[in-house]
Amino acid sequence: MVFHVLTLFPEMIAEGVSNSIMARARAAGLVDVKAVNIRDYTLEKHGRVDDYTYGGGAGLLMAAQPVYDAHCAVKAALPENTRTVYLTPQGRTFTQEIAAELAKEENLILLCGHYEGIDERALEEIVTDEISIGDYVLTGGELPALVLIDAVSRLIPGVLHNESSAETDSFQDGLLEYPQYTRPEVWRGKAVPPILLSGDHARVDEWRLLKSLERTAKRRPDLYAQYAALHQKELDKMEKRRKKREARGQDYP
Ligand code: SAM
Repeated sequence: MVFHVLTLFPEMIAEGVSNSIMARARAAGLVDVKAVNIRDYTLEKHGRVDDYTYGGGAGLLMAAQPVYDAHCAVKAALPENTRTVYLTPQGRTFTQEIAAELAKEENLILLCGHYEGIDERALEEIVTDEISIGDYVLTGGELPALVLIDAVSRLIPGVLHNESSAETDSFQDGLLEYPQYTRPEVWRGKAVPPILLSGDHARVDEWRLLKSLERTAKRRPDLYAQYAALHQKELDKMEKRRKKREARGQDYP
């Protein structure tokens, strides 16, 4: 998959994908990230890419011309149906579901605004999707673009190795992930839950699901309600099994 990032700060993008799993994914040819400097496309004789906003108000706005021309240059080499995502606090909030949807694309153009944002006329011409990474305002779209690139890339087959698996992560099945432990078995007097040392994979899976459910109900009741609406029968069965374990004095600690 190739991410084509239109930005005024290409170094930020290059730096953000030059470590750890992203660097390996790029070296393996699974993901490519091409940062395109919008400034290279300005026709303004002093190299300016921004100007004051009509109607007054503080701050500068990125002008339509360099953004539009940079986009045309990138898009010309890509299939007609390539999506252009504008990172903006006004977009739909980014989720794991959207990441999974975008991971199916072969190319994605990501547009990063800066200053007060971008002239609306350019956005009307080129943007197919608007995505926000949350209800707060950042100085530019580069960090949101990197967030999106990271979340989408780790869903591309081959990007994650053994050290991390997307399948059991939070949100993947509508629940938060269960608590996890590594060596040593006892740390500062705290022991790893004994079930995880039992070697009984079916019971470990059951314990993990129970912990995921408990955690989600407590921390994200909104997610839990959605999950419960879809899996009520399964939850009823689990509750029956829990009662049996309790009656036998074998419930999980
Ligand atoms: N004036 C804009 C508004 O109120 O919607 C905010 C502009 S912001 C200071 C500059 C740029 O940062 C935006 O064009 C956008 O690309 C990016 N940005 C800021 N916050 C963001 C967020 N929560 N999600 C995605 N992009 C964001």
